[in-house]
Amino acid sequence: MDRTEKLLSWYDENRRILPWREDPSPYHVWISEIMLQQTRVEAVKSYYSAFLEELPSVRALAEAGEDEYLKLWEGLGYYSRVRNLHKAAGEIMERYDGEMPRTYEELRSLSGIGEYTAAAIASIAFGEAVPAIDGNLLRIFSRLTGYAENILASAAKKEAFRYYSDWISPERPGAFNQALMDLGAMVCLPNTAPQCADCPLSSYCAAHEAGNETALPVRPAKKKRAVDKMTVFVIHHDGRILLNKRPAQGLLAGLYEFPNVSGWMNEKKALQYAQSLGFSALRIVRLPDAKHIFSHREWHIRGYEIFTGDWNDPAGDDTATGGPAAEKAPGAGLPEEELRIAGRTMFLADSAELESRWSIPSAFAAFRSHLLKN
Ligand code: SF4
Repeated sequence: MDRTEKLLSWYDENRRILPWREDPSPYHVWISEIMLQQTRVEAVKSYYSAFLEELPSVRALAEAGEDEYLKLWEGLGYYSRVRNLHKAAGEIMERYDGEMPRTYEELRSLSGIGEYTAAAIASIAFGEAVPAIDGNLLRIFSRLTGYAENILASAAKKEAFRYYSDWISPERPGAFNQALMDLGAMVCLPNTAPQCADCPLSSYCAAHEAGNETALPVRPAKKKRAVDKMTVFVIHHDGRILLNKRPAQGLLAGLYEFPNVSGWMNEKKALQYAQSLGFSALRIVRLPDAKHIFSHREWHIRGYEIFTGDWNDPAGDDTATGGPAAEKAPGAGLPEEELRIAGRTMFLADSAELESRWSIPSAFAAFRSHLLKN
């Protein structure tokens, strides 16, 4: 057996059974590959089935509303992925009559589909012999060849692409790519843990021969993440909870959150903040601190739950709201319509809506779970 046969027969015996592999239609491969970016396989499984249940086709995805697809993505993070999925579905409807394009080059032209995803779809769903270079393939390339330059540099990616392009099985390109992905996930593990004794490629591996498997691949030292302190307010009013819609651009764009401010506030300041929104606070409770880690920054969050009585429009009757509710008399209660306070769009939601309707990112998950639990 040559090395390709050894790799493919290892794959046939050991491959992971994953929902998207059971029916690898182009749409299924596309959705799964986008979900799997920066996200663990186990975490993706339930999202994948729920997403396909609601949006089973390119057309359904193209026609879905923003709140619908954001809700299906709630908790997965990197929300630009689902926005791009939706955008690309529109492009497929318009340019390809609803059929996924079949080639690497055409797939690359769609929103949110980069080199890796285009190669994965083209090879797995359409049998095009193009390597799908992800972190697993880069690590294996570095170890097999003894490549000791920075693996994150674009030169390394090009080198790996050339290396695998010369090697990829023209008969089973999709299986070839997935075999390497599985080998990286199960055997050629990162850091100190490669399982070389179980590896079908060990007799072709430069790092194994030299005994320096764990020194490869070479990565530049990680930069420290920036830390943002913030205070989050879970404000109860009239049996409902105050939410804020984030701006359409920037981090977590268009998602829903509990009102918050940068910096840590003490109780006194937190009560003043509630007053600045027009609420008279009856009771305040400090919630457990929370932390959320993004790729380049961390949020260290202090939380307060505030139970309120009356609401009085904090800016008089003409600037706090844009709608007819602005004309209500002070003390008449928080209007049903969206409020514009201090440049923010806020509104009251009930707990069923927190669960089923508004997409609240994981950064606020601790506060959302606290509410749903209580
Ligand atoms: S022999 Fe070891 S280091 Fe080399 S590819 Fe296999 S698992 Fe990775």
